[in-house]
Amino acid sequence: SNFQRLHIGDVIEEVVGFLSKEAMHRSIELSVRVSPDVPDFECDRGRLQQILLNLLNNAFAAVNDGGHVAISVERRDEDHIRLIVSDDGCGIPESDLKRIFEPFFSTKAQQGGTGLGLSITYGLVKELGGDIQVESRVGQGTTFSITLPITGGKD
Ligand code: ADP
Ligand code: MG
Repeated sequence: SNFQRLHIGDVIEEVVGFLSKEAMHRSIELSVRVSPDVPDFECDRGRLQQILLNLLNNAFAAVNDGGHVAISVERRDEDHIRLIVSDDGCGIPESDLKRIFEPFFSTKAQQGGTGLGLSITYGLVKELGGDIQVESRVGQGTTFSITLPITGGKD
């Protein structure tokens, strides 16, 4: 891995750049809010980008045109930040929730879904020394919360 000191707002802007065209075409409102008390911190930029891109790709697949996707970052405590990606899309049924981090679990096989995005994301978050949680309600939307240590992971 490749830990460096980074400003998470910059990393978010890089990833949002990949999706801005689709957001425009589909009139998806993509909002970003980084709380001013979030410090620069040690992290692997590539892994963080991959995590964000996987979550945002899923959020974009879940929302209708005109929907909302929000990214926010806050300081959770002295040693951690929390990164939240939420959408007001289709939501995840209770019965699927416990399976979404399994490799190859996908409800998008028809649309070319591999079912690998979230299992990879889970692994990347763990490699960064963090944790990921999900809350969802069918017909209302989904929120992924990732907690990351400010002091960097192991290697
Ligand atoms: P894929 O996107 O290839 O299907 P993922 O591992 O990224 O695979 O996601 C697994 C499944 O979790 C998806 O098929 C979908 O059913 C569900 N899912 C993930 N994120 C969301 C979301 N934001 N809203 C609704 N469903 C989601
Ligand atoms: Mg996916």
